[in-house]
Amino acid sequence: MKTLRTIADVRAAVRAARADGATVGLVPTMGAFHDGHLSLVHRARSESDLVVVSLFVNPTQFGANEDLATYPRDEGRDAELAAAAGVDILFAPAVTEIYPAGFATSIHVSGLTEVLDGAARGPHHFDGVATVVTKLFQIVAPDAAYFGQKDAQQVLVVRRLVRDLDMPVRIVACPIVREPDGLAMSSRNVYLDAAARERATALNRALDAAEAAVAGGRTDAASILSAARAELAAAAIDPEYLELRSADDLRPLEGVASTALLLVAARVGAARLIDNRTLEAPST
Ligand code: AMP
Repeated sequence: MKTLRTIADVRAAVRAARADGATVGLVPTMGAFHDGHLSLVHRARSESDLVVVSLFVNPTQFGANEDLATYPRDEGRDAELAAAAGVDILFAPAVTEIYPAGFATSIHVSGLTEVLDGAARGPHHFDGVATVVTKLFQIVAPDAAYFGQKDAQQVLVVRRLVRDLDMPVRIVACPIVREPDGLAMSSRNVYLDAAARERATALNRALDAAEAAVAGGRTDAASILSAARAELAAAAIDPEYLELRSADDLRPLEGVASTALLLVAARVGAARLIDNRTLEAPST
């Protein structure tokens, strides 16, 4: 595995691989790797000849009061894990390589970005995501790019971006990887102390309770949300949002007719956590 720092070096490496007929898979990350990241890498590895992982803590997607300064960073460990997982190129640029002085462009995907995390974190968040993803796609020109369903709204925003701007990239969404006790893996889980780590398992239980409600025929939003809310309340978690929305376009839903997304965000101890579950109406 090569660690590359510049756009020019990445382009040269990708060009050389393409000249040999290689297909290219890209996994965008902010580092602090866990098995969720590695699941994307394994999927990319199984489908691509050249696997590029970007490691870039993207400052433009953080708000002024968010955790940019404290976000966990350990490039040495990430490089070891990436090499062991079969990554060919780790692209770990400096902030100035991606945003040189005078950088003035922002990509805004309207609608999808104004709800849920877009409302909670502010419009800069998905503008930052859309802008950096666009840049990474321009730099690497991958055939496919791999994202986690953990960030379900991000997947929808990226799909819309790619569709609207005719980007020739296949977007692959990979399932949420969880700890044995159900907590969705996240780089931010390191912020949880022991008590908060225990309480954090309530997010997955809330999604389980919602899924059980739907399986039991209670497919209206009120029943689903109250089943989920009860699990959160038992752990003294007051969610930032807990919402039932369309899995296609995030419009609010009154119930689960076929497929729906239940999305939750909550502060637990020092961490802001998100999780979601795809709910399917029982076949009758
Ligand atoms: P991040 O480094 O947090 O920006 O995440 C990089 C990619 O890994 C994103 O596409 C995330 O959705 C994905 N990811 C993060 N956590 C998980 C997880 N627990 N399961 C699956 N994918 C994940």
